[in-house]
Amino acid sequence: MHDAVWLNAKLATMTGAVIRDGALATSGGRISWVGERHQWNEKARSEHDARGAWILPAFIDCHTHLVYAGNRAHEFELRLKGASYEEIAKAGGGILSTVRATRGASEKELVAAAQRRLSRWVAEGATVVEVKSGYGLDRDTELKMLRVARLLAGVTVRTTFLGAHTLPEEYQGRADAYIDFVCEEVLPAAAEEKLVDAVDVFCERIAFSRAQTARVFDCAKRLGLPVKLHADQLSDLGGAALAAEYGALSADHLEYSSEQGVAALAHAGSVAVLLPGAFYFLREARLPPIAALRRNGVPIALATDHNPGSSPLSSPLLAMNMACTLFRLTPEEALAGFTRNAARALGMQATHGTLEVGKAADFALWEIDSPAELVYAIGAAPCVRRERADKW
Ligand SMILES: [Zn+2]
Repeated sequence: MHDAVWLNAKLATMTGAVIRDGALATSGGRISWVGERHQWNEKARSEHDARGAWILPAFIDCHTHLVYAGNRAHEFELRLKGASYEEIAKAGGGILSTVRATRGASEKELVAAAQRRLSRWVAEGATVVEVKSGYGLDRDTELKMLRVARLLAGVTVRTTFLGAHTLPEEYQGRADAYIDFVCEEVLPAAAEEKLVDAVDVFCERIAFSRAQTARVFDCAKRLGLPVKLHADQLSDLGGAALAAEYGALSADHLEYSSEQGVAALAHAGSVAVLLPGAFYFLREARLPPIAALRRNGVPIALATDHNPGSSPLSSPLLAMNMACTLFRLTPEEALAGFTRNAARALGMQATHGTLEVGKAADFALWEIDSPAELVYAIGAAPCVRRERADKW
């Protein structure tokens, strides 16, 4: 006896199978049956009529900076009125303004703000969201951000430690000393409190070098934590190859990654996470190496990269549309990017990302004629129901 069954549904399982008249049953928070409706001859305690809706695996946003205080709308406004970066910094803008606001906010205020934002993901059928720290840059605030992320309700949260996001004011000119502090004090404390699912670094000329990134990754390794990387967004620092060297779950951004970097990712089995929101918002021109990723068979995931500075984007659907319009991904690639491959980017491929027996009963029902419609439409919100298993 199954707990529930959905009949009269179209199923895009994201394993390659499309079932136009299907049934999907769940038991104990897992998918317990999936297939053609005419083959369904079992029993379930409750029976739902999907009324011809499409069922897809719930969306997974594998790269966000969802927890922070304040926003940077004023900075956006100043820039559009012609202010330079220097003037914006003088007016108190930039990433360090988010750091100041986040340090000053209480845990309760941060939870309330993030929970409000998160309602957009829930409305678009997402059930798993990765959340990074990185606006604290001191021990207490980094831990506070991770605790806040763990308190968020309505989705399954995966927390990523991003203490090496940017250099805090008190360490200006002393980047190596800051990396010491991250490796010796902050990350071990966060790991000790069991607040960390993965470790990330912003490897970039304006942030941390390859050598500094490697030191953080070595520290993660000692603590038994998987790594991921903000790599090659603004220049080719060899971030993709470095991520691959450490067997990273994912390398993210990748606009400037070389062919060798892509081949290394393929060899390591790392996922390429593309972030069209930041590409759009920063009006970047250099496209990520899509052809090389395809040629090398690197799995491509997509994410919103939601953050107040470079990607104030709260919509997985719009991120998919942007990936197709700006990066020329196919709708199928975009959907895989927010389901199957996003699960893999979080190390959750055994339990999430496809409609298969044994996986979490996380899925969404959509009032659409074909899955491509989700990617094609801009501003539509045709999610009619979202199902989520409680605990993972
Ligand atoms: Zn990011």
